[in-house]
Amino acid sequence: MTTIATLGSHCALQVLKGAKDEGFRTLVVTERKRERFYRRFKFIDDFLVLNRFADITKPNSISFLKKRDAVIIPHGTLISEVGSEEVENELHVPIFGNRNILRWEADRELKEKLTREARLRSPKTFSSPDKIDRLVIAKLPGARGGLGYFLASDAESYRKNLKELQRKGVIGKNTPVFIQEYVVGVPVYFQYFSSILKNELEFFGIDRRYETTVDAIGRIPAEHQKGLLPSYIVVGNSPLVLRESLLEEAYQMGERFVDAVKKLVPPGMIGPFCIEGVYNEDAEFVTFEFSARIVAGTNLYISGSPYFSLIYDEPMSMGRRIALEIKNGIESKSLGKLLT
Ligand code: AMP
Repeated sequence: MTTIATLGSHCALQVLKGAKDEGFRTLVVTERKRERFYRRFKFIDDFLVLNRFADITKPNSISFLKKRDAVIIPHGTLISEVGSEEVENELHVPIFGNRNILRWEADRELKEKLTREARLRSPKTFSSPDKIDRLVIAKLPGARGGLGYFLASDAESYRKNLKELQRKGVIGKNTPVFIQEYVVGVPVYFQYFSSILKNELEFFGIDRRYETTVDAIGRIPAEHQKGLLPSYIVVGNSPLVLRESLLEEAYQMGERFVDAVKKLVPPGMIGPFCIEGVYNEDAEFVTFEFSARIVAGTNLYISGSPYFSLIYDEPMSMGRRIALEIKNGIESKSLGKLLT
């Protein structure tokens, strides 16, 4: 019998609760320090306890998972703590979704290529700090929740801020930094589910991130804001619904993304993904990121989302939707199409 497994972090609770609701056995891969926390939840049947997540690629872990016929649901922690290359080459356990695309998410150049292919409007990028001619955001590689990002408006402020963060040890001396135009506007994160069994794109929901300290700076008077460097560490998410007149474009962007993945990253986009960006002053959506797997912002909708309520008559979380797809795959003998 198939067991749904995931790393204990990020969105594990909704993934495993959803899997249980669809009748699966469930397994959490947890670091020892969080074992007690996950034991609180009765919908988790089995535990693989590791010293660190990266040990999931060790032979003992692999055979533990294989014995239980586990399918792993990938999320941001798998990328940040195990690494997309290790997941691609060393994690010899079936994964729900397209394993190859995780690399595209972690690599800035590949990410740009896919964004271009999907014809998503994106911010200007700068190949060198000396070319900075407007407000920019400097980003570090990997799904690290905005840790170490900083703003600059010219080469001088870039170097000053970079040095400051290197001095604090937030950024390493040789860490590659990606420089992107900062788009002033409302940040919005679109969450989708691409069903290859139904050949259909489902729109699940929207969230905003609550980030420290950038979301806190507006709470203090301007005179005290001066000299503070905003940071972008996600601490949580809040829900959002979109003006209905903007929804159609959200669907179209998702469909173009799915088409682009089909073309560039076979076997295509399987399951959840997210397009992340900002509505600028002209209410145009500018995409600065995508996540080619479930995002933690879907945790908002464990008992169903506003948009899935239009499709499903029972409460359907993203975690449960994944499990439902796997169940449908098993029943229609097409599970192989969903796993890599
Ligand atoms: P990311 O890791 O790319 O999702 O970025 C983390 C956070 O930085 C986002 O949630 C935004 O608040 C902010 N951000 C990233 N890129 C941009 C951009 N180009 N313009 C404005 N804000 C951005």
